[in-house]
Amino acid sequence: MGFAGESNYWLEGAGPAEAAPETSGALPDKVDVAIVGAGYTGLTAALHLARAGRDVAVFDAMGIGFGASSRNGGMVGPGLHKLGITGLVDAYGEEGAVAILGEGLRALDHLEAFVADEGIACDLALTGRFRGARTQAHYEASGRECDWLAAKIGLPTHHVTRADQRAEIGSDFYRGGVVYERDGGVHPRKLLEGIAARAVAAGVRIFAPCAVTGHAKARDGVTLKTARGTLQARELVLATNGYSDRRSNALSRRVIPLETGACAVGPLSPAQMAELTPKGRMHGETGRVFMWYRPTPDGRSFIFGGRFGAGGMDRAAREAAFRASICRVFPQLERAPIPHIWSGLIAYTADHSPHLGHLDGVWMAGGYCGSGVTRGIYFGAKLARRMLKQPDADTAFDALPFKPIPFRPLAGLGAGLMVRKYQMQDARDLKARE
Ligand SMILES: Cc1cc2nc3c(=O)[nH]c(=O)nc-3n(C[C@H](O)[C@H](O)[C@H](O)COP(=O)(O)OP(=O)(O)OC[C@H]3O[C@@H](n4cnc5c(N)ncnc54)[C@H](O)[C@@H]3O)c2cc1C
Repeated sequence: MGFAGESNYWLEGAGPAEAAPETSGALPDKVDVAIVGAGYTGLTAALHLARAGRDVAVFDAMGIGFGASSRNGGMVGPGLHKLGITGLVDAYGEEGAVAILGEGLRALDHLEAFVADEGIACDLALTGRFRGARTQAHYEASGRECDWLAAKIGLPTHHVTRADQRAEIGSDFYRGGVVYERDGGVHPRKLLEGIAARAVAAGVRIFAPCAVTGHAKARDGVTLKTARGTLQARELVLATNGYSDRRSNALSRRVIPLETGACAVGPLSPAQMAELTPKGRMHGETGRVFMWYRPTPDGRSFIFGGRFGAGGMDRAAREAAFRASICRVFPQLERAPIPHIWSGLIAYTADHSPHLGHLDGVWMAGGYCGSGVTRGIYFGAKLARRMLKQPDADTAFDALPFKPIPFRPLAGLGAGLMVRKYQMQDARDLKARE
């Protein structure tokens, strides 16, 4: 997904990443494992499987990292759950909530160790994330959540009062906030290309562009139909996340693809950057439909993102929506250039949790609900371990059922209506504080 005239900062404005590996030419007759989707999930699983001696082919319909893995904000962290602490405790009890949130910390530890062990130069820096509170009630609620997280899973956080906020952000928009000290950022495309290069070095064959157009059960695994012909695979992995469709139906039935937009603002002067983010942190905000933003790794621009833009909106409309939202927080950026605007698809699930496992005869991992940089790399590795019957393949998400979404063809429409409703509630909250 993308839109006509889009321009992605990570591909066009951020300088070269590691060279993309050569994609393989001739299609083999058979492989041990075929993986659909060459993003973080598919490539990480492929790397682990190949190192364990499996013959692996990865397919991407469009190109290596065409999907969200080259389009995201590059913000990493324990990926706190969309339900929030209260929602999680209500749904799974305190023990379940602690297990799920603790898994996020393990995923982050895994990412850090993986990047270091593999020597991937992807600008990983855990500079922390400031989450601004839009209202006093949000400030108090997020403070309580942080205290809970610190006490139950040892997550380092601290509160920032409204009076101290300028030490975190060049804005008076928020009513204070909290800092998640373990969060940070990467250059998402450099990370993607680093994984792809290591997968190829481990013997993975990547076919991209090459769509997998269908698959059928065969005597010893599956028969795959691809744009370059058919092949046999003993096992099949769907790693298509928000780009799942009828061709990857087992996953597509279980996730709702949602469009998310991003833009780059800049270049800005060193003084402007220091004013906007004095500590070079990642940034987020409370609210139902929120904006996230971060300085680029070179410290010269800012990336903003959120639910801006939907199918059919042109570049000018997207820019206007971004500018209005950005200026609410940073009026000083009223005239700053926005040279890059792009979008991508994330995958939502009915229970707001990511999932991995073996369902409908295929392996799958995804449904990261917009937080899939840390999780995709962790889940890719966990999925491979599970396929290889290796120890340490479990996650706290394993017991959660990954059910098909009822009335799935209408789910996108329903999600769109829900976003509109949330936006109206957010606007009411903001109006009430004036
Ligand atoms: C604008 C934006 C900002 C985001 N920001 C963040 C962030 O800051 N932090 C964070 O943690 N997460 C973020 N995310 C989410 C994160 O990028 C994703 O969760 C993650 O990249 C998913 O990786 P993946 O490998 O599972 O899927 P993807 O990277 O989406 O890859 C799926 C691939 O499958 C391919 N495909 C689909 N069907 C077929 C087929 N039939 N045959 C062959 N190939 C096929 C597609 O071409 C695609 O390349 C963001 C996402 C977006 C869109």
